[in-house]
Amino acid sequence: MATPKIYINGKYFDKPDAKISVYDHGLLYGDGVFEGIRIYAGKAFKLKEHIVRLYESARHIKLEIPLTPDQMAKAINDTIAINNKHEGYIRPLVTRGAGSLGIDPRKTSDPQVIIIVDDISLYPPELYESGMEIATVSTIRNHPNALNPRIKSLNYLNNILAKIEGNLAGCLEALMLNHKGEIAECSADNVFLVKTGILRTPPLDAGILEGITRNTVIGLAKDAGIVVQEIALTRHDVFAADECFLTGTGAEIIPVTKCDGRAIGAGKPGPITKQLRETYHRLVRS
Ligand code: PMP
Repeated sequence: MATPKIYINGKYFDKPDAKISVYDHGLLYGDGVFEGIRIYAGKAFKLKEHIVRLYESARHIKLEIPLTPDQMAKAINDTIAINNKHEGYIRPLVTRGAGSLGIDPRKTSDPQVIIIVDDISLYPPELYESGMEIATVSTIRNHPNALNPRIKSLNYLNNILAKIEGNLAGCLEALMLNHKGEIAECSADNVFLVKTGILRTPPLDAGILEGITRNTVIGLAKDAGIVVQEIALTRHDVFAADECFLTGTGAEIIPVTKCDGRAIGAGKPGPITKQLRETYHRLVRS
């Protein structure tokens, strides 16, 4: 990829020159919000949905984004165009801005709007055929009354701690439970199970990020006449499932064939996972 042009507050900088203050509370405290969006055929996929989530995250943390949603959409589209990016990934983020060393957001000024275009980093392609292994980790997903997982904030330490545990268990993704011991989500992907033809996924009140891919897959499944249940799930449901897959902007739909050393279903990607993957690919390429 040619040197990317990074958008900062309406101006474009070559990657080595794209810099912000070390006093920015995005750096000092993870105080800010972001989105991760796929670019397919030169277009930001589900842009409207990502912008809604970005602004809702910002509203929750009382961060005023200095652009209207329409201006943000234009900035994202312009950044794709200026980078001549056909397939890839785009990350808009908004930091609280530079302030004093204290956490008080009132002592900050100038939230920084940054848009980074990059290549997409995927799971190894063979895992989409064979299925991946995941491990349940001891780090639970943030309690919604502490830091609600609905906020896509710049503070991803909860997920990073889970990822470290997953890595140490020899897995590329980590399954996180919530404070009630139910399945929440993976460190950067939502979780789906198939049991006797029914598609199941944890509800939003399990304390999860409302994944855009998750919502898209739920819609595609319903359109295909598959019954979908957003329902509390436990590890037992994972071990007893016929199929399991993860969804995310980067991952798209990736089959999971093993969890905590137990083969899931027949130990290979199942028919509903394959059907939804095909439908999803048709949608994103359309
Ligand atoms: N959960 C978490 C914690 C995430 O960070 C992500 C995004 N990588 C997802 C789920 C999937 O969300 P989306 O489909 O919107 O990418």
